[in-house]
Amino acid sequence: MMPFLDLRSVNLQYEEELTKAFAEVLRSGWFVLGEKVIEFEELFAQYCGVKHCIGVANGLDALFMIFEAYKELGVMKVGHEVIVPANTFIASILAISKAGLSPVLVEARRSDYLIDVSKIEKSITSRTIAIMPVHLFGQVCDMDSIKALAKKYSLKVVEDCAQAHGAYYRGNRSGNLSDAAGFSFYPGKNLGALGDGGAITTNDDALARILNAYRNYGSKVKYQHQFKGINSRLDELQAAFLTVKLKHLDNETEKRRAIVKVYLQSLNVPDINLPSAHTESGHVWHLFVIRTMHRDSLQKFLIENGVMTVIHYPKPPHLQQAFSNFGYHVGDFPITEELANTSLSLPLWPCMSQQQVQEVCDLIKRFFSK
Ligand SMILES: *Cc1c(COP(=O)(O)O)cnc(C)c1O
Repeated sequence: MMPFLDLRSVNLQYEEELTKAFAEVLRSGWFVLGEKVIEFEELFAQYCGVKHCIGVANGLDALFMIFEAYKELGVMKVGHEVIVPANTFIASILAISKAGLSPVLVEARRSDYLIDVSKIEKSITSRTIAIMPVHLFGQVCDMDSIKALAKKYSLKVVEDCAQAHGAYYRGNRSGNLSDAAGFSFYPGKNLGALGDGGAITTNDDALARILNAYRNYGSKVKYQHQFKGINSRLDELQAAFLTVKLKHLDNETEKRRAIVKVYLQSLNVPDINLPSAHTESGHVWHLFVIRTMHRDSLQKFLIENGVMTVIHYPKPPHLQQAFSNFGYHVGDFPITEELANTSLSLPLWPCMSQQQVQEVCDLIKRFFSK
């Protein structure tokens, strides 16, 4: 069976370096918030082109803590509204609601799955405090338009970069396109740890100072607690692994692009809608998502022929039981719902072979020629 993502082979490319990193941490005897975390934070800040990087436990906490830190700064208050795409992984929205803010969902664009910027302005109210673009599947949102709106209405912009490590927009990397950004290093992400991990990037000194303490019980000096913080720290071990993998990230992104090039050239058939990639954005192809009216039967056919695929995401957040209190209904976001019913993510990982990509393409073409 061809997996959807062969994480084993992705990480085994670096077996020697990762084993060495493990041994260093084991022998150091220091496992939380030490030299390895500081080293990774510096490297990742440099990579993104920002002043500060704060390593945390996961991507959800990264985004949640940005809102908590803005509350500590007095910039945001419980009840403020944050604009977020309806078409996203639930964590984007949970980060807002967990902080006591109100998510206001905005419809997606069919062609690139991203927030429809033309629909943001009419969702802005006197309570709106921020816009949270999600660079879904590896492509940066239309940041010029988002920033123009933020400026016009004095809003903060918080990027969800969980799927967009290294993606750029008009020369700037994701994580450096807004007031603050949250990253996830969940194993399957483009920069993945060997367990959970996350980070916040920002150029805001005051925000960074709060976050550095907030992730560690709100304490900078041991047993002195300035904020009601949480425990959300990046492990030394994960930081050491991430430092190894960060060195290879750009090379892996190029491999993803080469695979996608084959997909885009080979799958130009009438029954398939291919994802569009914008010229100003350096797409990093976290996922390769096609759309077709025959999604379910195609997925079944591919499984029968030994190829695994995944649906991102089969049920949009506004229709999840967890958010039933928001009062959304079927039909509220028709394009997001259509995407949930027609999208299919094809196998994609950096060391996927040309032969494997070709096999997936051949099967799909065989399915549609029937
Ligand atoms: C993975 C992901 C998150 C959350 O990251 P975790 O590390 O799993 O908490 C947030 N937003 C998006 C868009 C994601 O894909």
